[in-house]
Amino acid sequence: MININQVQKYLKQQRELFGKELFFKNLGTFNESSNSIAENKESANRIRDLYKSISIHQKNSLGGSSNKFVFGIGDPNADLMLIGEAPGEEEDIKGEPFVGRSGKLLNKILAAIDMNRNDGVFITNVLKCRPPNNRDPLVSEIKEWEPYLISEIKIIKPRLIVALGKVSGNTLLKMDISLKEMREKIHDYSGIPFKVTYHPAALLRNPNLKKDAWQDFQWIRDFLKG
Ligand code: URA
Repeated sequence: MININQVQKYLKQQRELFGKELFFKNLGTFNESSNSIAENKESANRIRDLYKSISIHQKNSLGGSSNKFVFGIGDPNADLMLIGEAPGEEEDIKGEPFVGRSGKLLNKILAAIDMNRNDGVFITNVLKCRPPNNRDPLVSEIKEWEPYLISEIKIIKPRLIVALGKVSGNTLLKMDISLKEMREKIHDYSGIPFKVTYHPAALLRNPNLKKDAWQDFQWIRDFLKG
């Protein structure tokens, strides 16, 4: 039996030694402010099992230009779940979502609203493998990967889902509508508030969009504080 007092004492010591963040293998960070250690552990185990089963059942998806599965990363008890489209070249090399140019911009945006990818945030993609030559995901690929995304959402149970870009927005809304239209309101995904904003790659291509994106992320900050 795990003695919670001992665990809390241990975590306190670790925090004094190493700062507020504690690292678990490949699953980002956990911290004491999350709901409860037991809940954290439960989500961490379930997400780990999900990724293990994907590695087994989808192993044929690797090969060609795709080297590694790129699974979600972050706080398994996160309030905010960010969903991108598919891994790019750098993500495929590192096996981690949003580590290339878009990821660096995403980190800066999160820092601007006092958040970071390891604390209270979980980042994932619709597709867990890089499409050949970075092409857009095919409808058939989205259909194949969507059930895993649904499982991730059920495990993480975030307070807010944010789709980064048209592909993830359309996937969750099951509609083919423009990003502009999707941005106009807050949607509902199985009872969870769901917002769509620009993909960081779009902001890199067109910096004029940054003003609107900044408004979106200020709303996200305020929603999560409320
Ligand atoms: N773009 C995405 O949609 N996801 C990543 O992980 C990286 C770039």
